Amino acid sequence: MDASRSDSNNITLNKETITTSSGRQFTRVVVDRELCIGAASCIAVAPDVYELDNDAKAIIKPEWLTVDDETLKASAESCPTLAIFLYNKDGKKVYPEN
Ligand code: SF4
Repeated sequence: MDASRSDSNNITLNKETITTSSGRQFTRVVVDRELCIGAASCIAVAPDVYELDNDAKAIIKPEWLTVDDETLKASAESCPTLAIFLYNKDGKKVYPEN
């Protein structure tokens, strides 16, 4: 890792490292139940990843592990309340990027 880069650039650098070393960028998906409003757009994008529970909150299905990074990213981006967080294998939150 290039130590001369700033912190903001290191986020991008980490993404590149995960993609090339493991072939999979996202290793953890989390739904914040406080933020989830049950809009279900995540389910429309990735029905193998999410389902609504009895409280109309999105939960993660075991099948999420078979879903590619692009679909995971698209599903997270589809959430109107940014309730979906994506993490890399180092445990770093990479989406949303703030
Ligand atoms: S898109 Fe967001 S708010 Fe809607 S069900 Fe999924 S996580 Fe919840």
